[in-house]
Amino acid sequence: KPWIGVLALQGAFAEHESMLREMGADCREIRNKQDLTENMAGLILPGGESSVQGKLLRDTGLYDPLRRRIESGMPVLATCAGLILLAREISNDDRRGFSTLPVRVKRNAYGRQLGSFTALDDFAGEGLVAMRFIRAPYIESVLDDQVHILSRHEGKITGVQYRNQLALAFHPELGNDSRIHRRFLEMVRCAG
Ligand code: GLN
Repeated sequence: KPWIGVLALQGAFAEHESMLREMGADCREIRNKQDLTENMAGLILPGGESSVQGKLLRDTGLYDPLRRRIESGMPVLATCAGLILLAREISNDDRRGFSTLPVRVKRNAYGRQLGSFTALDDFAGEGLVAMRFIRAPYIESVLDDQVHILSRHEGKITGVQYRNQLALAFHPELGNDSRIHRRFLEMVRCAG
């Protein structure tokens, strides 16, 4: 039976798991290469600290096999630090994660004062969504015309989809609105 892998090296992975379980989806924590078995059908890259997660991805040897799976079309839902790990360019950091998503992001883009807030913005196809931002990045620009913009906050891009990659600046796993996870599970179902 296919299952969703939730990268569990650091950050807010438990909240994604509870949301997926509540929806009846099978999910497992990914902590090392041995966890990457055949029936993994999708991947969640949670929020947290992208620099720490990036280092741990390399230390554990998860970086290469996960990058290959993302590039070969496995659906990915990335939130906040996860978005930073997917981004091809980061305007205020020299480190790079998977670089599979053609966007340029800015880390900690909302500054210290406004580090955390909730915004009610439109999400393409879903209507208004209460979006929780925690020391969030935003997307400064998209680098490929196949990147679809799904949401904005005060003009700045906060959600995109590019092929199999759904990437958000905010945290859809907090609270009990499961529409975005539902959309992701639909991507997984279609890819399978
Ligand atoms: N500020 C974090 C970073 O730069 C992201 C914050 C988050 O994931 N909530 O990695």
